Amino acid sequence: MRLCRYDDNRLGLVEGNEVKDVTEALKVLPAARWPLPQGDLLIANLDKVMAEVKKLAPNAKRTPLKNVKLKSPVANPSKIIGAPVNYRAHKEESIKDKGISFGTEVKEIDYYGLFLKASSGLVGAGEGCALRFHPDRRNDHEIELAVIIGKKAENVPVERALDYVAGYAIGLDMTVRGQEERSLRKSIDSYSILGPWLTTADEVKDPENVDFSITVNGEPRQKSNTNNLIWGVKRLISYASTFYALLPGDIIMTGTPEGVGPVKPGDVMHAEIAGVGVMDVPVRAA
Ligand code: MN
Repeated sequence: MRLCRYDDNRLGLVEGNEVKDVTEALKVLPAARWPLPQGDLLIANLDKVMAEVKKLAPNAKRTPLKNVKLKSPVANPSKIIGAPVNYRAHKEESIKDKGISFGTEVKEIDYYGLFLKASSGLVGAGEGCALRFHPDRRNDHEIELAVIIGKKAENVPVERALDYVAGYAIGLDMTVRGQEERSLRKSIDSYSILGPWLTTADEVKDPENVDFSITVNGEPRQKSNTNNLIWGVKRLISYASTFYALLPGDIIMTGTPEGVGPVKPGDVMHAEIAGVGVMDVPVRAA
C-alpha cells in the first residue's frame, strides 16, 4: 500500500497516477490530548488506519497525482537519523573533492556511528527545498533509501530488525558543505525531504537490494543499489536501537552513494527508488 499526505493534510491512497482521498480513515486515531505521545500517531496506528483505508478505497474520490501537493508521509517523527559515509564510492569521492570533505579526514560509518537531523527540517516532495547560503556555499543533494520505523524498537538483534519497519520512502539528505557538525548543516529547514509517499514494508521484498537514482534537470547524478551499503538496513536499525529507542515514525536515512553534487534555485531533482516511488522536487532560494 502507498499512503501519502497531501494538500491540507489529507490522507491519500496512491494507485497508479491517481490519489484516492481516504482522509476519513484518520477517525480511527486516538484523540490527541496533552502531552502528545512521542512519535507519529498515524504510523503508530498504521494497521488500524490501513484496515479503514481498504474499506474506503472503492468509493473514494480520485484526483490525478500531478494535481496534489505532496507533504512528508510522516508528519511527526521523534527523530531523523543519518548514516555518514555508508557507501565506499562516496567515501572515495569525498576524499578527492575538498568541496565535500572541507579538509577533514574522511572515515567510514564504523568510525562515526550515526547522527541526527532536526525533525523541523522535514518536508515533502511538493514543498520543495529552499536553499540557504547560496551561492556562497555549496548545497548538495544526497539520495538515500529512507526507512520508516513502525513500532518501538530497543536493542533489536540484526535478524529481527525488519520486523520493526513500517515502510520505505525516498529520502533526500540535503546538505550545506562546510566544517560545522553534520547535525547542523543537514538540519536546515526543508533539507530533509521524504516522499513521495510511504510504501508499506510488505511491498519491498529486500530493502538491501534496491536500485535508486537521482537526476538534476535531467542530468544523471547518483545511481546505485542498496547492496552497496557498508552497513545494511538491518544493521543500521539494530545499531541505532542499542543507543536509543526507535519510535513509530522515526526515519533512518541510510546513507548516500557517489555522485553527490550541488543544486541551485530553479533546479528540479528527479529521484526514484525501484518499488518505492518516483518524485520531482523543485529547488528555490529561501
Ligand atoms: Mn547523507
